[in-house]
Amino acid sequence: MNERDSEIMLQLLEQQGYLLCAELEAADAVIVNTCSIRGKAEQKAYSFIGSLRRLKKEKPNLIIAVAGCVAQQEGHKMKSRMPHVDIVLGPHSIYQLPDLFQEVVDGQNNIVSTSQSDDFIIPPFLPNLKHGLPHKRFVTIMQGCNNFCTYCIVPYTRGREVSRKQEDILAEVEHLVAGGVKEITLLGQNVNSYGNDQPPSSCISFAELLRNVAAVPGLVRLRFTTSNPKDLSPALMDCFKDLKNLGHHFHLPVQSGSNKILKKMNRKYTVETYREKVAGLREACPDISLTTDIIVGFSGETAADFQATMDLMEEVRYDSAFSFKYSSRPPAKSCDFEDTVSEEGKAERLAIFQNRQKEISLERHQEYIGKSLEVMIEGESKTGKGQWSGRSTHNLIVNFYSPRTYLPGELVQVTVTEGCLNSLRADLS
Ligand code: SAH
Ligand code: SF4
Repeated sequence: MNERDSEIMLQLLEQQGYLLCAELEAADAVIVNTCSIRGKAEQKAYSFIGSLRRLKKEKPNLIIAVAGCVAQQEGHKMKSRMPHVDIVLGPHSIYQLPDLFQEVVDGQNNIVSTSQSDDFIIPPFLPNLKHGLPHKRFVTIMQGCNNFCTYCIVPYTRGREVSRKQEDILAEVEHLVAGGVKEITLLGQNVNSYGNDQPPSSCISFAELLRNVAAVPGLVRLRFTTSNPKDLSPALMDCFKDLKNLGHHFHLPVQSGSNKILKKMNRKYTVETYREKVAGLREACPDISLTTDIIVGFSGETAADFQATMDLMEEVRYDSAFSFKYSSRPPAKSCDFEDTVSEEGKAERLAIFQNRQKEISLERHQEYIGKSLEVMIEGESKTGKGQWSGRSTHNLIVNFYSPRTYLPGELVQVTVTEGCLNSLRADLS
């Protein structure tokens, strides 16, 4: 979502005559788009913003803007900690960036734009086809979140759920596809809640939206992220039966395999209902690739709770997983819970989880050996001349040799010869 927001900010500034520049030292303006999902991301952002102090000293007219969730969360505090920053703007303010820049040019350097209005809408916006990858793009369908999982800062930084109008989404997708884009990923913090904030008369579900986007002529692949499992509906599962261009991949973050911890996280599903959803997805799409997110060391997580997470992972056999040590994120509710697992305990559990997941990923990838896959070309592989890299419908990276030259987005049929940890190797079919 931050990548997409960065593209929007770039496009808005280009309309004002700014150009993207490759060297930080040569820039007249710097925008730091930040993430605050975990403490480490926030620390990284602060240390980079601090390092810009030197540049501002050398070039007093340099405009420095900080955007994203750290900006939203810190507001005036960031301005006082980092006085060399001219603009602090939250996710709701990105469309005002040109006006905020103008204020700086007019002599203001103390701008904090972090108010979140209930009337916020994501405006219609046609992306510039010049930037970004030629063959695949993100399209925002909603932002914000109403779920308030107890560990999560997103509802505080991105605000309440706001769905974009279907006609604006379809116009953006049609514009991209007409410009040669082959694959679209629909984006939202919790895409399955799409439409819930709209009046019942104009409300359509995420499954309906997905069907309408999939019907855009010329769209070769469609993906979406992210989904809270509690909202994964049978109607969405059915889309995997019917929609030919829907990618065979579902990122279904489980966070923990213990009902006690899921309850304390306010996830609103149990391991049993999660299991049923996994079974439903596999019935609708037998070769679906499942990936997940895990938090280890949440407040109250005992050795038995952690073992339950390991057991669930053994049972589901994810193709891959993002896993994190629990990090306390004020003002999220879990900051008031006791941090019961030591740093070393969290690190140990994370290593155990990641080591086993690596073995499972390798085993899963080896199961593809001998299968024929259609891959969408990403480009020439970094590892060697004549080696090409693409992605299968499962979103797996597939590398193969070919004497031919391909353009990104072309489809090629290959047969898998080897399963590696993070990718597959194949021969042309
Ligand atoms: N909307 C998605 C998650 C988006 S946040 C969902 O509901 O599943 C991406 C991931 O960051 C989460 O799935 C979680 O695993 C991780 N995460 C969020 N807050 C965290 C925290 N306080 N500590 C550690 N990991 C966290
Ligand atoms: Fe955060 Fe996802 Fe929960 Fe929303 S649903 S609060 S984004 S983890």
